[in-house]
Amino acid sequence: LTLLLVAACLWLLRRVVGSPFGRMLTTIRENPERAEFIGVNVRRYELAAFVVAGVFAGLSGGLFGIFNRGVFPDFAYWTKSSEVLIMTLLGGMGTFIGPALGALVLIWLNQQIVSYTQYWPLILGTILVVLLFAVSEAGDRLLDVRDLSKSFGGFQAVTRVSFSVPRGSISAIIGPNGAGKTTLFNLITGHLRADAGSVRFKDREVTGIAPHDLCGLGMGRSFQRTNIFPRLTVFQNIQAAFLCHRGRGWNLLAPVDRFYQEETEALLDSVGLLDKAGEIAGFLSHGNQKQLELGITLALEPEILLLDEPTAGMSAQETRESIRLIERIARERGLTLLFTEHDMAVVFAIAHRITVLHQGQVIADGAPDEVRRHPEVRRVYLGERR
Ligand code: ADP
Ligand code: MG
Repeated sequence: LTLLLVAACLWLLRRVVGSPFGRMLTTIRENPERAEFIGVNVRRYELAAFVVAGVFAGLSGGLFGIFNRGVFPDFAYWTKSSEVLIMTLLGGMGTFIGPALGALVLIWLNQQIVSYTQYWPLILGTILVVLLFAVSEAGDRLLDVRDLSKSFGGFQAVTRVSFSVPRGSISAIIGPNGAGKTTLFNLITGHLRADAGSVRFKDREVTGIAPHDLCGLGMGRSFQRTNIFPRLTVFQNIQAAFLCHRGRGWNLLAPVDRFYQEETEALLDSVGLLDKAGEIAGFLSHGNQKQLELGITLALEPEILLLDEPTAGMSAQETRESIRLIERIARERGLTLLFTEHDMAVVFAIAHRITVLHQGQVIADGAPDEVRRHPEVRRVYLGERR
């Protein structure tokens, strides 16, 4: 009887999924906002979906009662709903037959394991945690910015800016001076508090958390106006970052010089400053100071590196070298890179994705070729520079 009913239900569900109603539900799953604006009454459809799901759940509950020759309070315990969730995750969300297969696997596992141990719920919990991690890792957006806004007094510097940065990519934010690039970076890195909007980093809401906490999570940044410790030596600048990042900043008695010598020197080497290790940082050339700041940021072992106009104030020669250096380091360390720039040429040479800001708003967002051809970008951006 059960098998017959399951077959009938699957057939019925298949029809529902393949119907216009099913398609409306799919649009809601994919993009509820857009769905509203093609005329879908999202709440009503969700309610209908709930009722349909309830019908099948009720039927299966009835069958389960017959099978067990009774209905007990445990059947309504939360682990039962988590089993349904696990079946779906195991089989694959968004597939039709997946959850049914997931159910077969889970029930078979349950029967195998229950005969060896009484700790089935513990194993169930472990499976759930592993699956949830697997699902959340599947998303490749390392950084996700939604509708960020900021005004200074009455002046709207950043207006509803949204974009995302895929893991492992090199992304750029371009725009003329005053477009709001630095303000945007300050909002993302917790340097300024946003009026509205949200920032997600590694699938965590990080809006408004302090810079030193973000740093610990793996977000490193450099500043447009070079930001180093001018009266320390080049070596000491980098070593300080290592000390703090690795939790030695509260050691009151040990002599500081012997900490992280090798690491510091290796890093100085990779940013091309090893021969200047003993020099006072403030006396370095502008280009070298920028390299040093990059080194400081790298000592924090970031997953994403936010660089605010890394080549600002550099000569054409220095710019080329420094871009090459940044690109190499990002590749070697598997870093995700987000940088701002006002010079188009630099950006098109290395970026995979480009977001164009103008007067605080995003006017284009996409692959370099799309952005280059975008009429608004040509008008606003190229027009202004000529
Ligand atoms: P970008 O980095 O693209 O050159 P900014 O983010 O530095 O642009 O600045 C965007 C706009 O916001 C500019 O018009 C600037 O004058 C203004 N602005 C930036 N910071 C402040 C502030 N702290 N107070 C008032 N206005 C500011
Ligand atoms: Mg700026």
